Amino acid sequence: AGTLYIVATPIGNLDDISARAIKILASVDVIAAEDTRHSGRLLQHLAIQKPMLALHDHNERDRAASLVDRLAKGESVALVSDAGTPLISDPGFVVVREARARGFRVSPVPGPCAMVAALSAAGLPTDRFLFQGFLAAKRGARRAALEGLARETATLVFYESPHRISDFLDDVVDVLGAGREVVVARELTKSFETFYSGSASDVRQQVGEDSHGTRGEFVVMVRGADLTANAPDAVDVDRMLAMLVAELP
Ligand code: SAM
Repeated sequence: AGTLYIVATPIGNLDDISARAIKILASVDVIAAEDTRHSGRLLQHLAIQKPMLALHDHNERDRAASLVDRLAKGESVALVSDAGTPLISDPGFVVVREARARGFRVSPVPGPCAMVAALSAAGLPTDRFLFQGFLAAKRGARRAALEGLARETATLVFYESPHRISDFLDDVVDVLGAGREVVVARELTKSFETFYSGSASDVRQQVGEDSHGTRGEFVVMVRGADLTANAPDAVDVDRMLAMLVAELP
């Protein structure tokens, strides 16, 4: 039977493709891609010509079955997404699950991942972190999710799009507190790679004042809550203030 390879591709800088990824992409029978035109350009750059299949969120269920049939016939398949590691805020879960359920070999070809790249250079604790991917697009749901994370002590990692980054940072300031330590990584591995770091309100200001600050791709990292007795969490202080204010005549 064939093998399903989960192949990481660059998140910006094309030189980040691994030697093994190139070998695997050149050797498989078919490449399943989130967007065949997008990945076609990468393959062209690598001078690799292979049959491609589209596998995205909308057709993953149907496509998973036909990909697994190919594995059964002995074909090997590489799965790539538009950027970085498949299945990390990207399609692929259904096909990996299905392939494993049917006993086929699924093998990772590791490489770029925006979450890991961002964490590795941010200077925030990395011993424990909680990847949250994209929060809801609607503000109410996003704030509710942040409220649920307010007492989490692990470093929090989020993905955010350029048109929501400002609103997201407002929410972080309002819900997790202006003083919470935040690092935003923008355009990792690309020419305008920038890290903004400091308190939540500082970072919001830095991003707002940078003329390129809301362009490109973003990873937002938030230091976990400090729940030790002599360092009350900013959220608790905010809550206490709100309660006291409510008691005022
Ligand atoms: N599978 C990808 C990975 O391994 O990181 C993530 C795919 S997700 C659809 C795309 C999001 O990842 C972007 O909106 C952004 O939050 C983050 N991202 C991807 N490339 C990035 C980069 N070069 N710099 C910063 N963030 C990036």
